[in-house]
Amino acid sequence: MNLLQDIAYLKGVGPARAELLRDELRIFTLRDLLMYFPFRYVDKSQITTVRNIQSENEPVQLLLECVGFSEVGIGRAKRLTGRFRDASGDIELVWFKGASWIQKNFQIGQTYLVYGKPALFSGRYNILHPEVEWVEKSRWNAGNTFKPVYRTTEKCSKKGLNSNGIAQLTRTLVTQLPEHIIEENLPADLLSKYKLIGREMAIRQVHFPADIQRLESARRRLKFEELFFLQIQVARQKVSLTKDERGVVFGKVGNFFLDFYNNHLPFELTNAQKRVVKEIRQDVGKGFHMNRLIQGDVGSGKTIVAILSMLLAVDNGFQACLMAPTEILAMQHHQSMQELLAPLNCQVALLTGSTKTAERRRIHQGLLDGSIALLVGTHALIEPIVQFQKLGLVIIDEQHRFGVAQRARLWEKASIPPHILVMTATPIPRTLAMTVYGDLDVSVIDELPPGRKPIQTVWRSDARRLEVFQFMEDEIKKGRQVYVVFPLIEESEALDYKDLQDGYDGISRRFPRPQYQISIVHGRMKPDDRDYEMNLFVKKQTHIMVATTVIEVGVNVPNASVMVIESAERFGLSQLHQLRGRVGRGADQSYCILMTGNKLSDESKTRMETMVRTNDGFEIAEVDLQLRGPGDIAGTQQSGVLQLKIADIVKDQSILLVARECALEIVEEDATLMLEKNRMVRRYLEEISKGNSDWSKIS
Ligand code: ADP
Ligand code: MG
Repeated sequence: MNLLQDIAYLKGVGPARAELLRDELRIFTLRDLLMYFPFRYVDKSQITTVRNIQSENEPVQLLLECVGFSEVGIGRAKRLTGRFRDASGDIELVWFKGASWIQKNFQIGQTYLVYGKPALFSGRYNILHPEVEWVEKSRWNAGNTFKPVYRTTEKCSKKGLNSNGIAQLTRTLVTQLPEHIIEENLPADLLSKYKLIGREMAIRQVHFPADIQRLESARRRLKFEELFFLQIQVARQKVSLTKDERGVVFGKVGNFFLDFYNNHLPFELTNAQKRVVKEIRQDVGKGFHMNRLIQGDVGSGKTIVAILSMLLAVDNGFQACLMAPTEILAMQHHQSMQELLAPLNCQVALLTGSTKTAERRRIHQGLLDGSIALLVGTHALIEPIVQFQKLGLVIIDEQHRFGVAQRARLWEKASIPPHILVMTATPIPRTLAMTVYGDLDVSVIDELPPGRKPIQTVWRSDARRLEVFQFMEDEIKKGRQVYVVFPLIEESEALDYKDLQDGYDGISRRFPRPQYQISIVHGRMKPDDRDYEMNLFVKKQTHIMVATTVIEVGVNVPNASVMVIESAERFGLSQLHQLRGRVGRGADQSYCILMTGNKLSDESKTRMETMVRTNDGFEIAEVDLQLRGPGDIAGTQQSGVLQLKIADIVKDQSILLVARECALEIVEEDATLMLEKNRMVRRYLEEISKGNSDWSKIS
């Protein structure tokens, strides 16, 4: 038997089902089926009765007889209600779709295994869209305690490939498997050191576990294996980038850097900033290609690090550019760089979408002939028409807004790839960074400039708006400025603008002219108007800035001390944290006020409570990851984290850490995996990389 054999030849499959397995579940070969793991198990000892349902929080498993169906409601509220019962009582199962299919396939009087989360409805529990499976009552007590449950699709189910159908195929395959055909892929010393069971045993047990202990060892082994090979690939990528990829050399520290550093720094660098600058200097001096991520919370002072790095490039005869995600931010960077570098007689060009044609031509020319050394800009930078004479360094600020493809286009702008510095204020939890950005070196600015007071955050319901207005007034009287931010979420754009407008009207009534001046900034304004309003606020000519999230990234107004976030429940955690980071930039005590309605989901409550509890971006990122899973976190889409079959990047952090350490150790000693003891690792890698796209090319 060959595990790479087409799934069609397994007994019970045939051409039609094989096509379904391929198209729907991406199972092509026998091996794919073996590696199609159950996502949960039915533990027969865990069957509840209707009467014993206690709460809405825990999913339950019931063995129920079907009594009958009725369709109720009309339009969107139309639903199918199934009446079911066991010896202890009745319960309703509810479906909002698939009514005819369900009625056709259920039989009155039959027994079904039902799994789902109960919901309390007019004093009774029901279950919405449960997982249901027909069981043969007579055979229920036979066999193992744990029954595998496989993910499947409706199309598959219709052709008998529901979870049970798949289990049957898996059982056929596992029973037929000759011994030792599943080869071990982890070195023996790892197995014994971490008490991992063998691969063959693990794969058999994960489908049909004999008991809970064996199930657990099987899952642990397979998770380790999966994370280990992910990390081996990341580690090899990193080694090949740093060892093979030639980089431009910034060999010396010259006049620009030294003059600025010694004579014109506006403040003393924090130790964290000094450390990161040093790390960058070491990177760019070695002749390898730098690929570095700087993580630093909002306000930690990443800009100055960027500027120093750019000066280093100039000192060595190279051009450098800084790319920002929004026009406002690009302008701010440009302005502060112009001011800081004025004494050095060092010009900085600005290129954005709204740069006028004549100026644009001048810049294109200057970049090409080398007369412009420093450039700040937006996406306009990556257009093919922008060509450099000698580009040595690209800095990407707030990287999560840039797609991978966009970043890749920067490579084409120089014969030797420029050094890359990616700066982000959205801290990525450590374990995720290891996987998503495993091929980048990471520097962390984990210290705020001195004298900053932690921002005080409170959570208020809309009912206390008057109080909040009063607070704003008090702060304005002290000479401070206030942001009021409204959500802008595309699906309901029109409504959002109405909210913004209503909010603005309310604030204008409470803070009338001429005593108070209010700026308003949103995405529908022309960039010129937006910048005009923004500038009024920067110059302290307005007291209140009413805005949508266009101000989210990077904008720096140290005198602003209050951030009011309207409908805060509609923002994600990292966005809330970013917004809060707009205040607390000066020496004054700053405040963040989260305004929400009264009815909040549990998840929204957790978000608000987290914001109130901590200012630490890393802690917030961890909570965010727990709440949302890795799917929504920047960068994960390309990383393979989401294609994990069994491991979970959040829940299996401890396994990940060990697997990563093992992987690094192996790759450091034997990057090509040619040593005899690593032969099985190499073979398995070759096996899995066949037909796999190169997910690990991240940056
Ligand atoms: P971010 O990391 O969010 O991009 P910035 O670079 O915009 O932060 O810096 C935030 C503010 O802190 C700016 O006003 C900057 O001038 C100031 N700043 C940065 N580093 C220091 C420092 N070492 N000492 C004092 N102020 C600093
Ligand atoms: Mg910044």
